[in-house]
Amino acid sequence: LTSGLESAWSKLKGEEVLSKENIVEPMRDIRRALLEADVSLPVVRRFVQSVSDQAVGVGVTRGVTPDQQLVKIVNDELVKLMGGEVSELTFAKSGPTVILLAGLQGVGKTTVCAKLAKYLKKQGKSCMLVAGDVYRPAAIDQLVILGKQVDVPVYTEGTEVKPSEIASNGLQEARKKNIDVVIVDTAGRLQIDKAMMDELKEVKRVLNPTEVLLVVDAMTGQEAAALVTTFNLEIGITGAILTKLDGDSRGGAALSVKEVSGKPIKLVGRGERMEDLEPFYPDRMAGRILGMGDVLSFVEKAEEVMRQEDAEDLQKKIMSAKFDFNDMLKQTQTVARMGSMSRVIGMIPGMSKITPAQIREAEKSLKIMEGMIEAMTPEEREKPELLAESPQRRKRVAKDSGKTEQQVSQLVAQLFQMRVRMKNLMGVVEGGSIPSLSN
Ligand code: GDP
Ligand code: MG
Repeated sequence: LTSGLESAWSKLKGEEVLSKENIVEPMRDIRRALLEADVSLPVVRRFVQSVSDQAVGVGVTRGVTPDQQLVKIVNDELVKLMGGEVSELTFAKSGPTVILLAGLQGVGKTTVCAKLAKYLKKQGKSCMLVAGDVYRPAAIDQLVILGKQVDVPVYTEGTEVKPSEIASNGLQEARKKNIDVVIVDTAGRLQIDKAMMDELKEVKRVLNPTEVLLVVDAMTGQEAAALVTTFNLEIGITGAILTKLDGDSRGGAALSVKEVSGKPIKLVGRGERMEDLEPFYPDRMAGRILGMGDVLSFVEKAEEVMRQEDAEDLQKKIMSAKFDFNDMLKQTQTVARMGSMSRVIGMIPGMSKITPAQIREAEKSLKIMEGMIEAMTPEEREKPELLAESPQRRKRVAKDSGKTEQQVSQLVAQLFQMRVRMKNLMGVVEGGSIPSLSN
């Protein structure tokens, strides 16, 4: 990792301003990242164009490469494009707040109804659900069951009554009961069709809702832009809820929603459980879409990794062959920081050999290592011999860290191997710089 970083940096050193030329390649990578995240093509085109225009002429901060600077600009733009900050739900000034949920079939509307009720109850609001999907009896049953789970009343009238009538009666009932928030479930179709839109329009007309939230499945991918455009034009939405973010999708749909409708994503669903609903954080989403982790803090991390005194300290330890578990921990943390950095490095042309899977794998094994070292006593960390000599101690560390004794033994063995390796290295490397220790 270290040598890769250094060569990448030296390759890019010496450019102080972003120019039309030096952003071409990284911009191509960014374009690819966005498409891989399933942002729709027209949105990608517009975005890349506008960021490119903006980036040209921007000065590069000292110690930062043009590519890194560009990544930061892109990230900031993504965040801005998705609304910058968390968009709160709007509540009615008087009377019940009405939230109408719309969306295609299977995207998670009914689930969201109950999740949202649970979410709002936590904020001290009383809620009621209205079963407006009259096409399948099972849909009503589902809402009733979920309502029970989160302990909120569900208003139903079976499948014979028109959705707009049910909605209107449900709202009246909520007024009588002084309910704070009424959440109305509706029927979806596999595809957008006129009957669905007409029905939604009618329901919206009788309800005059405070929020019309389009529920969008994060896996929707490229079609998200067209979908959101149609719903927004036809019924007019106030925002969106992005569901199934716990899946593999990088969530490019999020970018499309705001870009084509101007309406924010307000909440995200991250699982099938009732508590899996949370506010939408544009900054986290930007990181996910770019697929490069926390790009914003990258520069700080870079500085941290390179912190001179840490390095000198480690070097002294190595020279005296006293390398212990504390040093190992420090080293794993350094490598972990390098790991998240390499996501950015991966964007630099010629540096994309490190795959996200490899990084994840490396980070996972570092976490395991860290857990075991943290379960050691200060004395054990300084004197690895204690663990080498005592199976009981290893057993305890294994138990406290939730790992197997074999894993602990391996770690101890690894430390001694490292000592030996370092001693050998010291014989070759004279004074000067620290050898790369990652593997
Ligand atoms: P509807 O047709 O829009 O009402 O969708 P449903 O609420 O019935 O959800 C369809 C399926 O998606 C159900 O099996 C839900 O459990 C599942 N689902 C809903 N939201 C999420 C989510 O955020 N994550 C995951 N993994 N599954 C979800
Ligand atoms: Mg449903």
